[in-house]
Amino acid sequence: MQLSIHTTFTEKLPADPDETNEMRQVNGAMFSYVTPKIPSHPKLIHATTEVAQLLGLTKEDCTSEAFTAVFSGQKVLENTHPFAMCYGGHQFGNWAGQLGDGRAINLFEVQHQDKNWMVQLKGAGQTPYSRRGDGLAVLRSSIREHLCSEAMHHLGVPTTRSLSVMETGDAVLRDMLYNGNAAYEKGAVVCRVAPSFIRFGNFEIFASRNDIPNLKLLADYCIEQHFCYIKTDGKEKYIAFFQQIANKTKELLIHWQRVGFVHGVMNTDNMSIHGITIDYGPYGWLEDYDPHWTPNTTDAQGKRYRFGNQPHIGLWNLLQLANALYLLIEDVKPLEQILENFHTTFQTDFNDMMLDKLGLTIVSKENENLIHQLFITLQETETDMTIFYRLLANVSKNDTEAEALQKIMPAFYQPDELKEAVLETWHFWLSLYLNSLQQETKSDNERKEGMNKVNPKYVLRNYMVQLAIEAAEKDDYSLVHNLYELLKSPYEEQPEQEQWFAKRPDWARTKIGCSMLSCSS
Ligand code: AMP
Ligand code: MG
Repeated sequence: MQLSIHTTFTEKLPADPDETNEMRQVNGAMFSYVTPKIPSHPKLIHATTEVAQLLGLTKEDCTSEAFTAVFSGQKVLENTHPFAMCYGGHQFGNWAGQLGDGRAINLFEVQHQDKNWMVQLKGAGQTPYSRRGDGLAVLRSSIREHLCSEAMHHLGVPTTRSLSVMETGDAVLRDMLYNGNAAYEKGAVVCRVAPSFIRFGNFEIFASRNDIPNLKLLADYCIEQHFCYIKTDGKEKYIAFFQQIANKTKELLIHWQRVGFVHGVMNTDNMSIHGITIDYGPYGWLEDYDPHWTPNTTDAQGKRYRFGNQPHIGLWNLLQLANALYLLIEDVKPLEQILENFHTTFQTDFNDMMLDKLGLTIVSKENENLIHQLFITLQETETDMTIFYRLLANVSKNDTEAEALQKIMPAFYQPDELKEAVLETWHFWLSLYLNSLQQETKSDNERKEGMNKVNPKYVLRNYMVQLAIEAAEKDDYSLVHNLYELLKSPYEEQPEQEQWFAKRPDWARTKIGCSMLSCSS
């Protein structure tokens, strides 16, 4: 197993001089050196060849002993120095102070084909940032992270990647529902890969301490390493940097809304400067279209991170980053301008994305209204978001409203119990839609092809990953493998996998892990 190690982060940025692994406030440093916990019986559950290849590894490497040893934390590669990063964050709207990599350990950076990748273990034990946590991760949350990050990538959503998921062979104590019923679960480690794992919170921590030299060092490092196309100097450079992050964040949020992904914990420590999805915790997929839904039981009261609120929270989080970067810019106007611009362009970009989902190309007041009416209509009765858009592609511009309605009928959870008023609303919306289709020049087939490229047929429904977890708990990893393969081609018809193009089964409606999750992972 050959890896081309290329260290930048720890070489260019200040380390915590204290190398003990004790909980503490770390001042004036970006990271602390740590050693991963040695797992007692590491066992590979699944590795992704595609991600291995990004790092210059082969399919054969993935099944080697060395692979299991390195990516479970059992063996630290020569000349590499694992470390945990220091960052802060706003959690659920409040400044939470220092957080940091409490259960993530960066192993090393790899350079391959002109790209640099940070390779990080999640669940490899305590660090100075673990606070009261054990630094470990359980099998269920690790499978959830592994499968979902790869599923998101293949959906075309920017994300951290997942190289592998392994059992550690060690038991981990968790109170899954925070109700005093703690139990031992299987421990696991995921190996994640990304350009970097730098978050908004990495900047916020220095700003909160008024540590401007380190704030500047970090911004300069990020620009040089990851935004090297920014060529301006002085404060202009940091304004351009913020503009880039705002653009990328906006694109990410539009993707989430497109595919029906709910992150669940959009705290600023879970927001990547690269605009990639990071930290898969109590996330979920919208099944019934309900913009108020959040899978995160920790957020059940305020529902701050509900599906429909994600764009607003993205902007709120960018405001926190702007407050931090302000210390390098000392001019509030350009930052305000960028935030304002985010707000106005979001609506246009979002509408463009919605037109794609509907197979329309004409930007008009009528189509804007059509989109607006759709969101109202979708909430009239329980309607499966993924199935709805996929079936809508079968509508022909010459259909009557009744014919079109028949085609989308299987997306309703109770198709036999639809009230007259609901049917009327759908008739009304379909009349608008058919009217819009009439204005378009594309053929039905062309439109369908286009729609099927943005409306996935298969997503990682909450119950699907739960089934894979329950089998894996019994040492049967076949469903993890099958779902990974299925979700590699989410837009393709896969006739042999048709069972996954189905509404959430009834048993999953209120089951823990399927419709609700806590942060305890
Ligand atoms: P999250 O909401 O999962 O992104 O985590 C928020 C903070 O808590 C981060 O600093 C994590 O590193 C830390 N954390 C979460 N779970 C654990 C754990 N089991 N042990 C130590 N730290 C943890
Ligand atoms: Mg996190």
